[in-house]
Amino acid sequence: MKLNNVSRISSAKRVVIKVGSSSITGENEKQLDLIVDLAVRLMQDKEVILVSSGAIATASPIIGLSAKPEDLATSQALASIGQARLMSRYEASLARYGKLPGQVLLTVDNLSDATSAANALGALERLIELDVLPIINENDSVATQEIRFGDNDQLAAQVAALVQADLLILFSDIEALFTKPPTQPGAEPISVVPFDGSLDGVEIEGSSTGYGTGGALTKVAAARLATASGTGVILTATKNAVDLDTKPHTHTWFEPKA
Ligand code: GLU
Repeated sequence: MKLNNVSRISSAKRVVIKVGSSSITGENEKQLDLIVDLAVRLMQDKEVILVSSGAIATASPIIGLSAKPEDLATSQALASIGQARLMSRYEASLARYGKLPGQVLLTVDNLSDATSAANALGALERLIELDVLPIINENDSVATQEIRFGDNDQLAAQVAALVQADLLILFSDIEALFTKPPTQPGAEPISVVPFDGSLDGVEIEGSSTGYGTGGALTKVAAARLATASGTGVILTATKNAVDLDTKPHTHTWFEPKA
């Protein structure tokens, strides 16, 4: 049988979904519902955790900023304003299904401290038992510049390791990892990256445009981390969330460590 995103999702029991700022704010605001629709469909027979960015991007237009702030205190203040708004959007979206979100904000310190990490795991598992969708973001208002996860791809990989997820779905603005930046001629999507497989010769770009910090570089780093702890990773475009569980789509599959 040829494996694709449908079979990879259907065989998973515990799934972490990660969505970035640019996918659910501004002109892509409506895609938040697509993510929630997918999460709710998967919740029928799987344990699902969502890692969502978007706090700072949500707050900026509310207080009249057109670009990402440069200084830490303003970013932290914006994250505090935007996180509340972001969660109310998730709450409204989940209410269409009679479900609730549970907000969990984490820092690097939390996950590197055994007791805090165990408590976070306990809370996440209880939320799942309560049929609530846990929604995780970095606790941006208290994280300092030096120890930030920096990008939620990394946070999502660490969460996947914490909960021993068998699948991490990394949503992105691109459909897959490409052999060279997708805007260049001759760029081909890479369908499978074997565990610890070499990506020599693949041109991987980082980006920190707009509100997201990421690009293919952080996706690959996060996928490496997740696969090393036994989690398979699907990298695909956010728009594919509409039927990712029922229809084959272009994606990159990062094979987990056996
Ligand atoms: N935690 C940040 C936010 O919600 C985003 C971090 C990232 O760019 O991944 O705004």
